[in-house]
Amino acid sequence: MKYQPHPNTTIALAQNLVSRQSVTPEDAGCQPLLAKRLADLGFTIHNLRFEDVDNLWAERGDRGPIFCFAGHTDVVPTGDETAWRYPPFSAEIHDEVLYGRGTADMKGSIAAMITAVERFLAQYPNPPFRLAFLITSDEEGRAINGTRKVVEWLTARGEHIDWCLVGEPSSKNSLADEYKIGRRGSITGNLVIQGKQGHVAYPHLADNPVHRAAPFLAELTAIEWDRGNTHFPPSTLQIANIQAGTGANNVIPGTLSVQFNLRFNTETSVGAIKERIATLLDRHGLNYSLDWQLSGEPFLTRSAELVQAVERAEAQVTGCTPLASTAGGTSDGRFIAPTGAQVVELGPLNATIHQVDEQVPVAHLIEISSIYEAVLQELQKTVTV
Ligand SMILES: [Zn+2]
Repeated sequence: MKYQPHPNTTIALAQNLVSRQSVTPEDAGCQPLLAKRLADLGFTIHNLRFEDVDNLWAERGDRGPIFCFAGHTDVVPTGDETAWRYPPFSAEIHDEVLYGRGTADMKGSIAAMITAVERFLAQYPNPPFRLAFLITSDEEGRAINGTRKVVEWLTARGEHIDWCLVGEPSSKNSLADEYKIGRRGSITGNLVIQGKQGHVAYPHLADNPVHRAAPFLAELTAIEWDRGNTHFPPSTLQIANIQAGTGANNVIPGTLSVQFNLRFNTETSVGAIKERIATLLDRHGLNYSLDWQLSGEPFLTRSAELVQAVERAEAQVTGCTPLASTAGGTSDGRFIAPTGAQVVELGPLNATIHQVDEQVPVAHLIEISSIYEAVLQELQKTVTV
């Protein structure tokens, strides 16, 4: 251990996790460390390895709904390590700020969850609901053998999460000013439009796919998918990549490849997107192939027990009411929400995530841990068995 452990237990645990080089899909011993802490609290531990990915499902209690803390131990690569003020896995604290890869996204939150549960169970050893942790080491990567597989495993066992708090860094300008109650969906289309290659001087012997596609693309990018709703902005489509041509100025290209991505809300379905684009392609008489990759459906958690518990917990700890947001990219909540779980995401500031000098103030992690504990206490008041 190179770093100087902080006297606060949440921070010392965060340092221990950050010092482990768990770049996706490596876990680097983070989950065994968490499993030990949870086993000591009476959790049953399931180590679920799917291909090269370690996952942890820990569960405690035998009555009531399941409240689950969800998170990931993997981190994104550091980039040029010499660009960092302090080495990215040194877990150093300077002026009460913890530096390192994964401090904000999201080892700090995981440490805060563990210590929140330790304090909560010391006070209420027999809560009227079950407690669980779903921890993966494949959130930042392909996310195939992580949360998605654990949820399938749970479903096969006939278990399902009722309330899930994901510790993703949701705060924008000040601690816990925002939390997420949903996310937009994301789908990518890989479109290839066929033409016929030829000499530019003899266009009647060729068929230019760029010319054929141009009016189609103009219409595609002008579509109004929906107008959004109270919780979501309107759905959008962006062309991300477009390729055609050989590089020579005298060759009509044979094919045109277009990759586009939609971020869509609960007003527009995957089926509607596919149908609308197929209809448009056919109307333009294009000879095409189109592959779809669905990254996640949109989800929205209605204002029920979990959302209310989070709002009351925040009011107690910070004295503020957080903004319920659906902005930002996707998270593993997309795999948990479709099972019917209420899902919220609440964690530290996201200002430095994935950046050089990723950092989180010590005071913020301590406060996040207090909010997590207060959420458990609020749920404890809600549930009657
Ligand atoms: Zn994350």
